[in-house]
Parts: sequence; C-alpha cells; structure tokens
Amino acid sequence: MTKIAFIGLGNMGLPMAANLVRAGHEVAGFDFAPAAMQRAAEAGVVGADSGASAAADADVVVTMLPMGKHLIDAYCGAGSLLAATKPKTLFIDCSTVDIASARIAHEAAAKAGMLSVDAPVSGGVGGAAAGTLTFMVGGSDEAAKAAEPILAAMGKKIVHCGAAGAGQAAKICNNMILGVSMIAVSEAFVLGEKLGLSHQALFDVASTSSGQCWSLTSYCPVPGPVPASPANNSYKPGFAAALMLKDLKLSQAAAEDVDAPTALGLHATRIFDDFVGAGGAETDFSGVINFIRTAHGA
Ligand code: NAD
Repeated sequence: MTKIAFIGLGNMGLPMAANLVRAGHEVAGFDFAPAAMQRAAEAGVVGADSGASAAADADVVVTMLPMGKHLIDAYCGAGSLLAATKPKTLFIDCSTVDIASARIAHEAAAKAGMLSVDAPVSGGVGGAAAGTLTFMVGGSDEAAKAAEPILAAMGKKIVHCGAAGAGQAAKICNNMILGVSMIAVSEAFVLGEKLGLSHQALFDVASTSSGQCWSLTSYCPVPGPVPASPANNSYKPGFAAALMLKDLKLSQAAAEDVDAPTALGLHATRIFDDFVGAGGAETDFSGVINFIRTAHGA
C-alpha cells in the first residue's frame, strides 16, 4: 500500500485514481471542481481541501491536468505541491503537455529533491476506466523504475522512452501519426464514394493491403466495417477533435523548436483547426470525415 495524492480528477484522472484505490493504495485527491470531488469520494478517494494538503503525507503525487500552465502552477505556484511534500517523493505527471513545460516541471522537482517522470497516456477514457492505458515515460532510470508499480495499477503497457520530456515527445509523435492517418483514411473513403466504391469493399481491400493502419482497422471513420468505432455512435467521443487539435498543435510547436520538417503534421493541424472552428470540437476526431466530405467540397 502506497500513500498517493491524485491531483486533477477529471474525465481521465477520476477513473485512474479509482483504479489506484482498487489496487489497494490509499489515495487522497483534489480537484477545483466540486462535482469531480463528489465523484471521486464515491470511488473511494479521500477528499482534500487543496492539492498541497492531499500531497502533504504522500509518497507519490500523480497529476492529470489539462495543459502545461496548469502543471507548472500546481508544482510551483501558490500552494505548490513540491513545497508541500517530503524530499524524495515521486512525482508522476500523466497530463499531455508541451515538452518545455514538462522539462520545467522536472527541473523544479529535481531542485526540490524529488524524483519525477512525465508519463502521458494513450487509451482515452475507456482505457483509463479499464486500467489498460499505455504510459510513455520520460525521466531517470531510478524515477521510471519507482513509477512502474504505480503505473501498472492503471495501465497495461509502460514504455520508458528516455530522459525528462521523452514521454511527451513520444506522445505527440504518436498522435501526429494518428491525426494524419485519420485524414488520409477519411479522404480515401470520400474518394471511394465518388468513384462508386462501397465502404465495405474499400475496407476489405485496404484493411488487408498496404493501406492498413489503426485509423482504418480499429477506428474506421465510416459506419459499418468496425462496429465499435465512434462512426457507429453518431461520432460521440471517443477522442474529441479538440483534444486531437491540442496534440497536433503541441507537435507543431515541438517541430518548430527543433526545426523538424512536418508538412503533413502542419496540414493536419490546419484541417483539425478548421473542423473545430466549424463546431466539431466535441465530436470524435474521426468525424473529420464529414467535414472533409462537406466543407472541403469533396
Ligand atoms: P479534464 O478537463 O476532464 O480534467 C482535468 C481536471 O483538472 C479538471 O477537472 C480541472 O478542474 C482539474 N484541474 C486543473 N488544474 C488543477 C489544479 N491545479 N489542481 C487540481 N485540479 C486541477 O481533462 P481530461 O480529459 O481528464 O484530460 C487530462 C489530461 O489527459 C489532458 O492533458 C489531456 O490532453 C490528456 N488526455 C486526455 C485523453 C482523453 O481522452 N480525455 C486521452 C489521453 C490524454
């Protein structure tokens, strides 16, 4: 049993904290949103009146926050988590944030005498609830090893990707592939429609040919071929287009920082930006096919 503070009990954080409780850990939690605190209490998380008071007695502090500014504020701002905890506490940040913020958080943690990892996730709300997330870990060998048993209670795959920030780097590279490939698959279906191909015929060929990819075979953007995909559920997320846009923007900021050529990543960012601007923010990201079919005049 480990004493864990869990900060940020939103769509992802709450089911993750609940899995830590189920694994037998003592979890104290904090979120600004009273409704999140209420749901967390029902899941067995002990409510604290601030992040600092949740963290005061903890061996491990897990954060699951929206963006880099929230992470830095939680670590270093008023009511700092780093100032509230004892030396050598393990800090695990599971949020998806920009690499620069992740590194600032690591540096602040090291300065305060803490161990830290960035450990963003893949698998979405469903994976968080089922405890089947993939964690992409950045940080020292010592910190990554210490984080492993905690992460194992919330996920099924843990990859130590390298030094501080490497988890965030892996996450945004993966999601750039995903954003680009979903657009590619969507364009192919829209082209196939215009050429008189049925969705099923194109799926049967491409899913067993060189066009095969996750966006096609696990998350097909047209209803029918993959019954569990959001296309069969009115494009309810799943993974909302607004979150895809966030990750694509992070990929483009990182690409600019290191002068990496990501022409398709940039184009995908613009298409998702237009889709979100046209009201698609809360739609599953695979709904971009409908935007391509209409707004792009296909
Ligand atoms: P969310 O908005 O549902 O939850 C974030 C919570 O953090 C909110 O409840 C907010 O009140 C709380 N919060 C913000 N600052 C805080 C602070 N200082 N102290 C305490 N609570 C604070 O977001 P989410 O969907 O749970 O996503 C969290 C992170 O996970 C994001 O970085 C997101 O990009 C990433 N992510 C989300 C998904 C997904 O499918 N939702 C998938 C993979 C990764």
